[in-house]
Amino acid sequence: MRTIVRTEHYGYGAVSPAVPVRPRPACADEDPELFFPIGNTGPALVQIEEAKAVCRRCPLMESCLQGALDRNELGVWGGTDEGDRRRIKRRAARRRAA
Ligand code: SF4
Repeated sequence: MRTIVRTEHYGYGAVSPAVPVRPRPACADEDPELFFPIGNTGPALVQIEEAKAVCRRCPLMESCLQGALDRNELGVWGGTDEGDRRRIKRRAARRRAA
């Protein structure tokens, strides 16, 4: 199974007392394909919900979501899909305009 790095908070390196222990992303042992559904209808909806369920038990959810917003990522990140993140951005834009 492939492993992917989904946030800047998860990396590889020597562990020493000077280096804080980094939380492990919940998706580290998941199939990366789970987080990149094809489409947003039918079976893809089930896949999206499965990916979001993984995110909900992830200690990095908040920073992962922020990174996905900053980078305009595709797929499921930080417990959100692309539609969720578009709504978050629209809401933020409306708040800034008010
Ligand atoms: S929030 Fe989801 S996509 Fe992001 S690191 Fe955690 S499990 Fe992976």
